[in-house]
Amino acid sequence: MDERRPAAVVTGGSRGIGAAIVRRLAADGFDVSFCYHASPVAAEQVREAAAASGTRIRAHQVDVRDYDAVKKFVDAAENDLGPVDVMVTSAGIVRDNPMVMMRPEDWREVVDVNLDGTYHACRATIFSMMKRRSGCLVTLSSVVGLRGNATQTNYSASKAGIIGLTQSLAKEVAQFGIRANVVAPGMIETEMTAALTGRIRERALKQIPMGRMGTPDEVADLVSFLASDRARYITGQVFAVDGGIVL
Ligand code: NAD
Repeated sequence: MDERRPAAVVTGGSRGIGAAIVRRLAADGFDVSFCYHASPVAAEQVREAAAASGTRIRAHQVDVRDYDAVKKFVDAAENDLGPVDVMVTSAGIVRDNPMVMMRPEDWREVVDVNLDGTYHACRATIFSMMKRRSGCLVTLSSVVGLRGNATQTNYSASKAGIIGLTQSLAKEVAQFGIRANVVAPGMIETEMTAALTGRIRERALKQIPMGRMGTPDEVADLVSFLASDRARYITGQVFAVDGGIVL
């Protein structure tokens, strides 16, 4: 019997939803390697908190826009922790503005991080999973990728692209025993949404049938399920975790 602990890689694990996913997968018994962009201090706090579960947790500063760096990060995780069973892509940014004021560099950066970054992480992992004929990918999109949002053409395009990427990949690799699913959060309390204040926040809350924002742990619970064997017949699906926004 294979006594090896399963291994997971998470992009964007230093805070918010990604950090909750790291902690949750560690609690589920995964060794986890995660990457982050900017804050080694925040990453170390997440690493320490997750390591309390007793599994091996690694943190690496990696820019997901750089394919070679992502490939090195994934290869290092495989050498260190063993074959990657689960890849979760949570790294993401926003640069909101109406189209009429959207600067080309803000369009480019959002698509580079969110969509290209997701491609890089999946591309760096998939061949090894195909060789082993098993594996699971969970990508983070957004309800904004399903139905658009004013001031977020760049973000929405990147998040809709993630859905297309994931569903196409799911069709390609199902024959190799690999599953790929999308999690589409609604409004979740993280630093990404902390900028929403006052009337804008009130208006946003009114759109949520459940009347409140979600927590990172509520997203992590869904990722945990999709990464588990309980989801073994589920692939190519998009799951909103949004308090009913898309209804
Ligand atoms: P966050 O801003 O709190 O955290 C983002 C994470 O991504 C950080 O760990 C950061 O280091 C990492 N990151 C950013 N740029 C990177 C880069 N170039 N290379 C590597 N890592 C990078 O965001 P969050 O709210 O936790 O969101 C996580 C994911 O969920 C994102 O993909 C986001 O689009 C998506 N999402 C969030 C919400 C929400 O309401 N918070 C809603 C829908 C979807």
